[in-house]
Amino acid sequence: MKKILTTIASAFLLFQASAQKAPFSLPSLPYAFDALEPSIDALTMQIHHGKHHAAYINNLNKAVTGTKFEPQSLEDLLLNVSTTNDAIRNNAGGHYNHSMFWTILSPVGAQEFDPNSALGKAVVQQFGTLDSMKKLLNEAASKRFGSGWAWLSIGKQNKLMITSTANQDNPLMDVLQERGIPILGIDVWEHAYYLKYQNKRGDYLEQIWKVMNWSKINEYYTEALKNMELKDKLKIQ
Ligand code: MN
Repeated sequence: MKKILTTIASAFLLFQASAQKAPFSLPSLPYAFDALEPSIDALTMQIHHGKHHAAYINNLNKAVTGTKFEPQSLEDLLLNVSTTNDAIRNNAGGHYNHSMFWTILSPVGAQEFDPNSALGKAVVQQFGTLDSMKKLLNEAASKRFGSGWAWLSIGKQNKLMITSTANQDNPLMDVLQERGIPILGIDVWEHAYYLKYQNKRGDYLEQIWKVMNWSKINEYYTEALKNMELKDKLKIQ
């Protein structure tokens, strides 16, 4: 019973973030700041969540309050981001991306990759092995010049798609060519790793795989496959 309740509560997190409307608020971390040590250090987590993510939310609230965008959900702001402005694009992206990021991480060894899960089977079918997929995602993350994200998303015909975006953009945005439903995002802004790894982004990208919450990513995968409305809006049916 406890496990079921935890699953429902955590599944609710991303849905809650997508459906949320102004005023937006900071979701609490689903674990302690030091829970991802040694892959991600406690101070980085504390500043990343409490300062960076909080700032995106404050700035998003300022950008939409009293405007025609105020009644829109976070997901709708992103899907129609071309109709907004830079402040909304950067901060709505920042809020969504970080809300997802916290939930796809978990303490080392807590949620191992399961090759028999729905996602596991899709990964093997499309990439051969998990390692091949990790390599492609790490390449996308390494090649991103400056700040941005690397993504695993569901794209056209339910295929897994690997892309990277600049700044706080994400695959939901209508300003991008390659659109999809993100199920795993890796933050490659320096604020995500600099305290521990300095300029060695590659070392951070090696270590982050040790704290992936594969059960959560599998949940996002199966939820996204069923989300016909969103796939329709993204024109990826
Ligand atoms: Mn970040």
